[in-house]
Amino acid sequence: MDIIVLLKQVPATETNVSIALDGKRINTDGVKWVMNPYDEFAVEEALQMKQKHGGTVTILSMGTEKSVEAIRTALAMGADTGILIHDPAAADCDGLGTARTLAAAVKTLPCDLIIAGQRAMDDDNYLVGAAVAEFLGIPHISMVIEASVEGGTIRCRRTVEGGTVVFEAPLPVLFTTQRGLNEPRYASLPGIMKAKKKQIETKTLADLGLTPADIAPAVRILSMRTPPERTGGQIIDGASAAEKAEKLVNLLQEAARVI
Ligand SMILES: Cc1cc2nc3c(=O)[nH]c(=O)nc-3n(C[C@H](O)[C@H](O)[C@H](O)COP(=O)(O)OP(=O)(O)OC[C@H]3O[C@@H](n4cnc5c(N)ncnc54)[C@H](O)[C@@H]3O)c2cc1C
Repeated sequence: MDIIVLLKQVPATETNVSIALDGKRINTDGVKWVMNPYDEFAVEEALQMKQKHGGTVTILSMGTEKSVEAIRTALAMGADTGILIHDPAAADCDGLGTARTLAAAVKTLPCDLIIAGQRAMDDDNYLVGAAVAEFLGIPHISMVIEASVEGGTIRCRRTVEGGTVVFEAPLPVLFTTQRGLNEPRYASLPGIMKAKKKQIETKTLADLGLTPADIAPAVRILSMRTPPERTGGQIIDGASAAEKAEKLVNLLQEAARVI
């Protein structure tokens, strides 16, 4: 089974992110970059599927030259090959442009299954996986917590409010990951050594038959803002618990207007 993992490199959640002077992007100076955590589940699931069914695991990423590091981590976990789509003309594309580009790259590869994260922890669009499936004209199953393949069919389980639902679809399929799908492995030392020799191919938009106009953003970022500083809390005084509760209810009704 030939499996493709869509992988994005994102700032680590513990890194200090500030907004750049133009107010439209983050300042990347000093940022620590990692594999998107939901994509770690995707890599792990692809490796487990390969273990069961044989085949290949290809990592596909679009980003700057730095994204090679995240691809290399996935190769060290056990993936076979990596492809980086790097083109300065794609730097400002939106989620749909990203999906169009990734889909064009998938079309050049053997593929039975595509696994993507449900969301990237930086831009949080929650859309690239579904849009890639749409561009390829294949089924999409979102936020999967269990997956198994038998014959040419995939069966996936996902949670919904108060329960779970099981879906089935014929391959090729794209599914996105949810926490609980698996426990991503750490790269072993031999894995890291082997990954150094594995091939990472770089492609441009032209290599995929795309022009910058094909992925021109339909959605533009106008501004970015950090959340306002939290104000201090209010301590409610009173002679008894009942008096404090009465004051609290008054505040919730009149000041906060939430009840
Ligand atoms: C300099 C700069 C300018 C930008 N300008 C704009 C703009 O003008 N308008 C706008 O809407 N957005 C803009 N963006 C956001 C950027 O295009 C987003 O990365 C893109 O929209 C994808 O959205 P997401 O990461 O939130 O994807 P999500 O839909 O949250 O990601 C879900 C999953 O899709 C896959 N995936 C997502 N991105 C990639 C990728 N690059 N490579 C491989 N797999 C991927 C991963 O599996 C991921 O877990 C800009 C980003 C930068 C860095």
